[in-house]
Amino acid sequence: MRFLITAGPTREYLDPVRYLSNASTGRMGAALAEAAARAGHRVTLVLGPVEMPPPAVDDLVRVTSAREMFDAVADRFEACDVLLAAAAVADYRPAAPSVEKIKKGDGPLALELEPTPDILAEMARRRRPGQVLVGFCLESEDLEARAGAKLQAKNLDLVVANPPAAIGADRQDALLLRRDGSCERLVQVTKADLAGRILAAVASLAG
Ligand code: C5P
Repeated sequence: MRFLITAGPTREYLDPVRYLSNASTGRMGAALAEAAARAGHRVTLVLGPVEMPPPAVDDLVRVTSAREMFDAVADRFEACDVLLAAAAVADYRPAAPSVEKIKKGDGPLALELEPTPDILAEMARRRRPGQVLVGFCLESEDLEARAGAKLQAKNLDLVVANPPAAIGADRQDALLLRRDGSCERLVQVTKADLAGRILAAVASLAG
């Protein structure tokens, strides 16, 4: 199968040197890419700015902003069988980035933010029959209920729900929620284990 995987954070610049971002390391997406490549699938990885060396994949596309990630995914979505959206995409970006470095003033500085495009939700609208779409969600409260709501709202086949402690951790808890309402609970698994369980779930959904 042809896998399209997003990973890492995005950066939303407010001026030439400053940006909004998050603590995503890209390791979950990299573990998925490695597991899929090892299983003989063709892998395209759309990767935000991360420090780790990227995994060996068929096609590596480096992006910076949510807009660039959207365009990279949209160009490749039709040709994929499975989209694994592991990236921590910024939900907001500065509405009017400054061309010049913002000068320090005496008073407070207000930044106006606008929503970024939701890549996964838009691909779900464009999906053709047979494509499998997997989303990730990180919530500090009501994890299972919010993950279920996201699965419905974004029209996904599977949602991987993570608690905040999963960020950067070697081992983590996770829930795999499927569209049929079934839920698999994983306790203190490595990202490689979790990637294997996600691929097994995808294989059963695609089959
Ligand atoms: O709605 P929320 O941001 O919690 O959804 C998380 C899921 O949606 C992740 O799979 C993430 O990669 C994806 N997403 C996206 N584009 C956005 C925001 C989130 O593809 N702008």
